[in-house]
Amino acid sequence: MVKMMLRRYGTTCHICGHPGAAQADHLEPLAENPGRALDIENLRPAHGASRGGGSNPCPVCTPAAEARGYGPVYCNTVRQAMSVDRARRVIRARTGLPMPGDAGFSAASQAEGREWECGAATGPGGRARPAGCRR
Ligand SMILES: [Zn+2]
Ligand SMILES: [Zn+2]
Repeated sequence: MVKMMLRRYGTTCHICGHPGAAQADHLEPLAENPGRALDIENLRPAHGASRGGGSNPCPVCTPAAEARGYGPVYCNTVRQAMSVDRARRVIRARTGLPMPGDAGFSAASQAEGREWECGAATGPGGRARPAGCRR
């Protein structure tokens, strides 16, 4: 199901807007509507932890958060059953990074040169993957 969802919607996190998302988040939280748990229309890619094991913290947010003394950023865990806007506020506060909808969001992520996926062996110029990329 998650693979199908990633093929359909890509791997850009619907919460923080960064690449490398490999978990599903529910637009309409399960706490509010458990019947839509497996409705692909209700799923979107996000960084995070999954019940079945495996996790993918955001490769952009995590180093920024760790530099400020916070742990890795798992977007769907931050969100839980709250609104996406609230999750973005929390992540913005931890990382100091602009979130989707903020002025300077895309400019900032491009300036960082991190527009590549966690799945790649190396980034631009052969740089190692960020510490946040754990599988
Ligand atoms: Zn994210
Ligand atoms: Zn992020």
